[in-house]
Amino acid sequence: MLKTGGLADVVGALPGALAPLGVKMRTLLPGHPKVMEALPKDVKELATWPAWFGGPARLLAAQVGALDLIVLDAPHLYARIGNPYLDASGRDWPDNAQRYASLSYAAARIGWGELKGFLPDVLHVHDWQGALAPAYLHYLGQGKHRPTTVLTIHNLAFQGQFSSSIWPQLGLPDEAFSMNGLEYFGDVGYLKAGIQFADAITTVSPTYAHEIRTPRDGMGMDAMLRWRQSAVSGIVNGIDTDIWNPATDSLLAAKYTAQDLTPRLANKREIEKQFGLPPDDSSPLICMITRLTTQKGIDLVANALDAVVASGARLVILGSGDAALEGALRAGAERQPERVAVRIGYDEALSHLLQGGSDAILVPSRFEPCGLTQLYGLRYGCVPVVARVGGLADTVIDANDAALKADGGTGVAGVATGLQFGEVDEEGLLDAVRRTVRLYRQPKVWQQIQRNGMRADVGWQTSAAEYAALYRSLQGSPHGSQNPPRPKESKKAKS
Ligand code: ADP
Repeated sequence: MLKTGGLADVVGALPGALAPLGVKMRTLLPGHPKVMEALPKDVKELATWPAWFGGPARLLAAQVGALDLIVLDAPHLYARIGNPYLDASGRDWPDNAQRYASLSYAAARIGWGELKGFLPDVLHVHDWQGALAPAYLHYLGQGKHRPTTVLTIHNLAFQGQFSSSIWPQLGLPDEAFSMNGLEYFGDVGYLKAGIQFADAITTVSPTYAHEIRTPRDGMGMDAMLRWRQSAVSGIVNGIDTDIWNPATDSLLAAKYTAQDLTPRLANKREIEKQFGLPPDDSSPLICMITRLTTQKGIDLVANALDAVVASGARLVILGSGDAALEGALRAGAERQPERVAVRIGYDEALSHLLQGGSDAILVPSRFEPCGLTQLYGLRYGCVPVVARVGGLADTVIDANDAALKADGGTGVAGVATGLQFGEVDEEGLLDAVRRTVRLYRQPKVWQQIQRNGMRADVGWQTSAAEYAALYRSLQGSPHGSQNPPRPKESKKAKS
């Protein structure tokens, strides 16, 4: 399956987790090459649309694993190899506006009942790519069946903002190009439209749901999101606990359970070997598995690297991204060859080994809608050391005094599952690393933190139950919102 981030994880996992809760979900995907390849021979053609955004399109139905798929097969829009949004030189495809208006319009048409025998109660769309669907329902669905709409925002940095020159191709009435419609500072705003017209808006953690309503993290949309705040909520993502299971993970040098953590040592030795670090048991081995960007706080790590080493920790970093940050980390590793090692690249197998053998995983993000690596860390007894933002704040229990003592005074680390730091700067990061080193050197406390994390609920069931409850709560409620305030100009937004 084609994945570029958390969105794909949610879309892939949610239907299977919702099924036992009595919610039947069908998933509409654009027919990217990887999606088309995954389809079985016995696909069913549900509809043909000969003139669809400049070419012919079909709707195909197929069962793929737990997914009951509807695929929008429109080769002129989607038959492009590689990243779905970018061309070979890394630029946005020039027709992205049409490509995802097409997806949203198809969703709206299915939503208002165009497929025989299928009248969905809820239409759940994701990010700017699906965000026009509630607008299509609003403007073109009058007199038709109207499903309740849910918009999930996975990362507010991506807003789908396009020049107004594309307007004639969207098939919407002219009145919709207005402040209370799709117009966004003279452009067309896809996510803006979704925020305006969706019945409910979710993000991927409660803290991020709060943060995006503040000027600091609202990326120009905070005023609109405050206007809609009674419709905004946060539901954290889960992880696939079958794939991410240290008891069965064949990508590890040694498997283990919370009952016996000693095999983790063999994984640590393997990491040291692969990264060229001398074996060492007296200092914690802290890993990072991440895109190398300032969002992820990598500049802080690069700047604080020598002080991190001086505090007694070792660092192994797996990642790729910003060339300047890659260079800064490499230079740090050259200065500290016995304490710091960097692997530039994307390596899923190695990411499992790092979770299975490192003592801790550092996630110093400036913002983090949900975050996955800290959830894998919990599951693997790789203690998360995280910035107190977004989903990181919601999924890790800081080993503060109260949490360490919360078990009623046995002296063992009561409920803590990791470490958090509130000031996301070099000092805050260093302070957290120093606390990590101190706790690591108290093996009983450390192991209890590891075990607490391994018992944390990180699967999809709880999140799925929250989505199911949301869908049910929306039945019969009034639709969308009208006349929100004009949002502030966004500087950080990308399409
Ligand atoms: P984001 O989606 O913002 O990049 P997340 O923490 O939500 O951050 O998800 C990142 C996912 O990508 C995780 O599954 C993580 O393990 C994986 N990942 C990131 N960088 C690498 C890498 N260099 N090698 C292997 N896996 C990586």
